[in-house]
Amino acid sequence: MKVDMVDLKALHTRLANELDNAIMDVVRSGAYIKGPDVHKFEEELAQYLGVKYVISCGNGTDALQLALMSLNIPQGAEIITTAQSFIATAEAAALLGYKPVFVDVKDDYNIDVDKIEAAITNKTAAIIPVHLFGKPCEMGKILQLARKHKIHVIEDTAQALGAEYWIDGKMVKAGTAGTIGCTSFFPTKNLACMGDGGAVWTDNEQLARRLRMLATHGAEKKYHNTAIGINSRLDTIQAAILRVKLRYLDEFNAKRREIAKLYNEKLSDIQDKITLPRYEEEEIKHVYHQYTITLNSASKEQRDTICERLKERGVSSMVYFPVALHKLPVFSEENRYITLLNAERLMDSVISLPMHTELSEEEIEYVCQMVHEVVM
Ligand SMILES: *Cc1c(COP(=O)(O)O)cnc(C)c1O
Repeated sequence: MKVDMVDLKALHTRLANELDNAIMDVVRSGAYIKGPDVHKFEEELAQYLGVKYVISCGNGTDALQLALMSLNIPQGAEIITTAQSFIATAEAAALLGYKPVFVDVKDDYNIDVDKIEAAITNKTAAIIPVHLFGKPCEMGKILQLARKHKIHVIEDTAQALGAEYWIDGKMVKAGTAGTIGCTSFFPTKNLACMGDGGAVWTDNEQLARRLRMLATHGAEKKYHNTAIGINSRLDTIQAAILRVKLRYLDEFNAKRREIAKLYNEKLSDIQDKITLPRYEEEEIKHVYHQYTITLNSASKEQRDTICERLKERGVSSMVYFPVALHKLPVFSEENRYITLLNAERLMDSVISLPMHTELSEEEIEYVCQMVHEVVM
């Protein structure tokens, strides 16, 4: 048997009728840039998230960049984020002349909220929590700190669209509690298009106008540019695809949760060797962008061997991420005196297993059997 990390072809075959129609409608309309589907998708996503304004853009990295650009943060300011994420989170800050400040993670791979306050200085302008692998961060505590120190919260929701957490006694969508939420529609994300795409959102009307202006060459009125912006747009075809898939997002996420639960059951007997993600029924809604396990006591070499052995048995796996952000060559020099123990341990001991909406129970069973075989 062969089990891949993702199977986009199977998903798109299942939805082929609706997707083909949506795509061909755009092709025939000729409105490829800012066609009607773009605006409709923004409205539908806003409704789904329960926010006032959604501004679509070119990709998730642009979304983070736009969010930071919109807040008028002075040069040299510090932006606190997690050490375990995709480069984009820190890259957007560094590109704009801010200093990314990395905070260690907990065993659940998300930023350690108890270590944030020690990283706050009088230069801190924002925190970018990342809901990694689809698991919401501890937002209550993050918001409390942000209010206390008067700093912005930009949520990187690229891996967690549809996830939920409790805020003020209400279960709300991940990405909606901070100042601005950002996401990516990269083909493998939980809500994904067939190319690049992204979005930012906020409840603040003024910020929303600014975000849209910045994404449109700094012009609210065409040819009357008032700021230096960027050109970042969601293609109409991608918006049309996303409108179809948004209707299935809750179903997709429910399937991912079901698979995670099955994995947890079938791997529960080897918890002396591996740490499984905690499956929470009530406290939060984790949407398992990735199903990631940690080897309890293996070296990097042993972890890599395990991945090799899985591959020989037809089971794909990935390491997210093999290098913690503060250890990346681009950031390692300025962080040379910084040790983030958990992030450094996890980069050598995590393995993400196949996770996608089209996985069968038979495939999950097979993956688990193979994990049993290869985990030392
Ligand atoms: C995918 C991703 C991004 C960037 O999204 P792109 O659309 O590829 O630019 C940012 N942050 C995280 C956590 C991601 O997983």
